[in-house]
Amino acid sequence: MPHEDCIFCKIIEGEIPSAKVYEDDYVYAFLDISQVTKGHTLVIPKTHTKNIYETPAEVASELFARVPKIANAIRDAYNPVGINLLNNNEKAAYQSVFHLHIHLIPRYGENDGFSLNWDTH
Ligand code: 5GP
Ligand code: ZN
Repeated sequence: MPHEDCIFCKIIEGEIPSAKVYEDDYVYAFLDISQVTKGHTLVIPKTHTKNIYETPAEVASELFARVPKIANAIRDAYNPVGINLLNNNEKAAYQSVFHLHIHLIPRYGENDGFSLNWDTH
C-alpha cells in the first residue's frame, strides 16, 4: 500500500520518473538523483516502511537478500573497485526520505570524491 506523500512510493508506482537499476516483486533499485559517485544506487522495499526501527524482519531480510545481486550488477556496469552500503535512520542520522533505503555507493579509489563523513554529504 503506497504511503501518501512518500516520494519513494511514487517512484515505485512510476508517478515520479527514475533510472531503474533492478526490480522484482519485493524491491526497486534506482540511481540516486544526486550521485555521490558514479552508479550511486538506492535499494528500497516495495512495502512502505519508514526506517529500520519500524521494519519487520521479513521485509529487512528480503531487502538485504537482493543486495548482492544488485551490487554485482553495479560492478558489471560501472567497474568500481569497491562499494559502500549505507543506511540512514532518522533526521539526526541524515535520513531525508522516510521510506527505508540502502545506499549502494560504488568506489573508484581514494580520490573518487566520496567521504564517509556523512556530515559533508
Ligand atoms: P537519505 O539522506 O534519506 O539517506 O537519502 C535520500 C536520498 O534520496 C538522497 O541521496 C537523495 O539524493 C535521494 N533522492 C531524493 N529525492 C529523490 C528523487 O526524487 N529521485 C531519486 N532518484 N533520488 C532522490
Ligand atoms: Zn514509501
